[in-house]
Amino acid sequence: MSISDTTFKYSGTVGMQHEEPVLFEHAHEAPESINLPGVDGDISPELSAFARKTPASIPGLSEPEAVRHFVRLSQWNHGIETGFYPLGSCTMKYNPRVNEQVVRLPGLAHIHPDQPEETTQGVLELMYELQGWLGEISGLPYVTLQPAAGAHGELVGLMMIRAALDARGQQHRRKVLVPDSAHGTNPASATLCGMHTVELKSGADGRIDLEELKRHLDDETAALMMTNPNTAGAFESDIKEICRLVHEAGALVYGDGANLNALVGVARPGDMGIDCLHINVHKTFSTPHGGGGPGGGPVAVNEALAPYLPVPRIEKHGDTYSLVHSCETSVGPVLGAPGQIGVLLRASAYIAAFGRQHLHRIAEDAVLNANYVLNRLKGRYHVPFDGLCKHECLLTDEWQEKHGVKTIDIAKRLIDLGFHPMTVYFPLIVHGAMLIEPTETESRETLDAFCDAMIDIADACEAGDTAMLHDAPLKPFRRRLDETQAARKPVLVWPK
Ligand SMILES: *Cc1c(COP(=O)(O)O)cnc(C)c1O
Repeated sequence: MSISDTTFKYSGTVGMQHEEPVLFEHAHEAPESINLPGVDGDISPELSAFARKTPASIPGLSEPEAVRHFVRLSQWNHGIETGFYPLGSCTMKYNPRVNEQVVRLPGLAHIHPDQPEETTQGVLELMYELQGWLGEISGLPYVTLQPAAGAHGELVGLMMIRAALDARGQQHRRKVLVPDSAHGTNPASATLCGMHTVELKSGADGRIDLEELKRHLDDETAALMMTNPNTAGAFESDIKEICRLVHEAGALVYGDGANLNALVGVARPGDMGIDCLHINVHKTFSTPHGGGGPGGGPVAVNEALAPYLPVPRIEKHGDTYSLVHSCETSVGPVLGAPGQIGVLLRASAYIAAFGRQHLHRIAEDAVLNANYVLNRLKGRYHVPFDGLCKHECLLTDEWQEKHGVKTIDIAKRLIDLGFHPMTVYFPLIVHGAMLIEPTETESRETLDAFCDAMIDIADACEAGDTAMLHDAPLKPFRRRLDETQAARKPVLVWPK
């Protein structure tokens, strides 16, 4: 099969189709990137001790050569601004430009966390307001904006749960139940918090099995950590009964809010019985992923957990906002600042752009888009769990595997066709999983182009073009990397 040009219509990154040597390999003999006049006369005695004995090891490049190198490197990335990015569980939605305008307002862009409070009233007001919005959206009114990522929020939430249990004199409750479909950060956070995890086996429908849950609940259980909708894209329809059982056993329910995109403005985790929830602002609220860390994982809790919220807390007295640092019951500060303001303001901008009346459209359009993809692909790829999905759909390679083609081959072929692959081999409970999350920001044309590409791949597989699929991606300069080797033995220094 030839690579269909039509699939490049709506997407596509071709940046990976060229090689880019490291700067030193580009360089000429003599450094010529800086054109400064030579120094007249002797270096002053105060500075002479610091004079270089050997020339600096700087690559010899002109300014345009250096600029082109870095710009070309930047094109090695596939970003949400270069193409469709259906990475399930990660909610790679478009980051609206208006968010960028908001954070670049001079009064906001240059603020410093140690400025005197009289000069930061406006920002404190915005953060106080965002806390209120997140409290209302989640149904858990007490919020900290401090945690710097979803996983950090998990740790902070569990610290609060542990503190609440300790305050009840229940230091023996240290067991955290985690479904086998959970994101890897869940057991990692529990372990980091000094707890131990016990895995719950999911039922045949990919949801929490109530009998399995009952079997594991006991007076050593601190919490159940659960994601709803879960990582298979299915709503935990027994959520109320699950929360009731956990509470009856004297434990708490930690909600992993990474999938809040499917619920926002429509249903509230707090109303379902969840006690504590982190919110990934780079998922649900359109702040950028990566670039030094996601930057925001606010945690929302109910009244019983509120005394344990981190400090400093933003309080309002009369018309004045202040950061309150002292609180005996608090788990303490969890970040060097009250929150990553640049990231949090972008989340505020996204929420404000929809407003109270329209926020539900985020979830509705995200769910609609995922079901559209599911319905276009379900005749060509095996669907492990029946029924509607929420904001992401789950397929497997079961039908392609009969032809010797696996999830990895399908994902790599998508790169040739101009798309970022979906999430592969997660959740772990499904063999050969492909988790596709289109988000609310994609048009029908983009979804169709992606589905066409997936159908092209299924066709190629059935037509016996398996050698091509095993070789894919054919277009990028770097093709199938040894990712294990790259992670275990990274080469970080250029050997002269
Ligand atoms: C993304 C994700 C996390 C971790 O969140 P980060 O913000 O990346 O630290 C946890 N759980 C689930 C289900 C996720 O999708």
